[in-house]
Amino acid sequence: MVQFDRVGKRYPGGKEALSGINFELARGEFAFLTGHSGAGKSTLLKLMMLMERPSRGQVFVDGQNLGRLRPGQIPYLRRKVGVVFQNHQLLFDRSVYDNVALPLQIAGYTPAEAGRRVRAALDSVGLLGMEKRNPIELSGGEQQRVGIARAVVNKPALLLADEPTGNLDPELSAEIMNLFLRFQQVGVTVLIASHDIALIERMGHRRLILDHGHLHDGQVPAAGGIYG
Ligand code: ADP
Ligand code: ADP
Repeated sequence: MVQFDRVGKRYPGGKEALSGINFELARGEFAFLTGHSGAGKSTLLKLMMLMERPSRGQVFVDGQNLGRLRPGQIPYLRRKVGVVFQNHQLLFDRSVYDNVALPLQIAGYTPAEAGRRVRAALDSVGLLGMEKRNPIELSGGEQQRVGIARAVVNKPALLLADEPTGNLDPELSAEIMNLFLRFQQVGVTVLIASHDIALIERMGHRRLILDHGHLHDGQVPAAGGIYG
């Protein structure tokens, strides 16, 4: 699903954020991306959705060389890759429904098809019936689940998350991680950047460890599955 081939990234005027990155994520795999602050986790995620471009090497997503995508193909890539942010980036001037429907408006669905998809996405995170609420009325955990619904509303093959439990207590964090595992169980490839080492160690699964822009591939522990 994902392949990095000798990828390097240097920001203009900056130092090397990533260097010599090689790894693959199989379709349906679930992996964590860990590393100290500034290790390059966000940069690595951004390269997979063309929010940044590599300075060296090649990134493939679903067999497509991202360096060769024409500008007109980028919306199709964005539909294939769902992203969850730590601060969820919800818009508080509109309803839960409109927040989740945002990626669909860009894709141009009919209102009926959009409605069906939004409800399916809200259902998949346990928030069916919350459509008319304003996200500001919801708890932190619920807001993050709205962010996840928005990320999966296009039924992406690849789901990326950047510190999705950063602001949540341990119990809510485990719930959110279990949601990601459920998406993996229906075939979605999942990569989660997190520094929540305790949670990651309890959950098992493959760990990609970034250290000052260099990648170490952790082994896959035997355990793994829905936690808690
Ligand atoms: P992490 O997500 O692991 O905290 P980042 O990918 O955000 O790491 O950052 C990796 C390195 O790249 C850091 O040294 C950071 O300061 C630098 N960096 C990140 N984004 C930019 C940018 N837009 N311009 C310049 N330097 C950046
Ligand atoms: P279909 O396209 O098969 O008609 P729906 O849009 O009705 O599917 O959704 C079917 C189920 O898939 C929903 O119950 C929803 O929870 C789940 N789902 C939502 N997002 C994803 C996703 N990214 N990958 C797989 N299943 C998803």
